[in-house]
Amino acid sequence: MGRAILIFGNTNAGKTTLGMLVSRKIGCKYVSFGDQKRAEMKSGSALGLRVEERTKAAHPIDPNDCAQVMMIASETDIPLAIISGFPICEPEMRCFLNFFEVVGVINILVKEETALERSRRRGVCPICAFPGCVGGSCPEHPELFVPRSDHCDEEFKRRAELYRVRILPFVSNPCFDKVPRIDLDSDRLSANDMLDKTLVWIQGFLK
Ligand SMILES: [Zn+2]
Repeated sequence: MGRAILIFGNTNAGKTTLGMLVSRKIGCKYVSFGDQKRAEMKSGSALGLRVEERTKAAHPIDPNDCAQVMMIASETDIPLAIISGFPICEPEMRCFLNFFEVVGVINILVKEETALERSRRRGVCPICAFPGCVGGSCPEHPELFVPRSDHCDEEFKRRAELYRVRILPFVSNPCFDKVPRIDLDSDRLSANDMLDKTLVWIQGFLK
């Protein structure tokens, strides 16, 4: 069974940035459920088609299907993964625990206006998909971030509400009471500050 550190936070809080930075430093895998879901849908597999159908109809995806997407993504027995976007509710958590032990929880806090501002300027490294704001450049490549065309205020509002209503309450679920947890303020801390704090925190409980 793989070990997982879950990352929670509003859309554009910096989950992917931190997840990718930490995973590169400690040599584990970063898995974004959203990215894996899109890859699975694109593959045209039976699982991908089921997921696509429910996504298009704006219905919640079956937690078992979500878990299958995660399992495929992480090849089931990787020693440690940093995971964002799943699980985000109790039924999903029950499926998830069939494949992973949750060893830590990272909770990134951000003001909604900061997140909206970032979303409007959202960019990505054309080489490695590292996220950033348009005008900046990738820490690993000389390339400037290219704009991502998928921002719209409506989609941002939908994701922000999902976070407020569903995900934020779940982060306080008693199932995480005994799991080491770190809260990071993305308004005050730079990406590198968040990386440093997270690495110290991980060293405190892993191995
Ligand atoms: Zn890059």
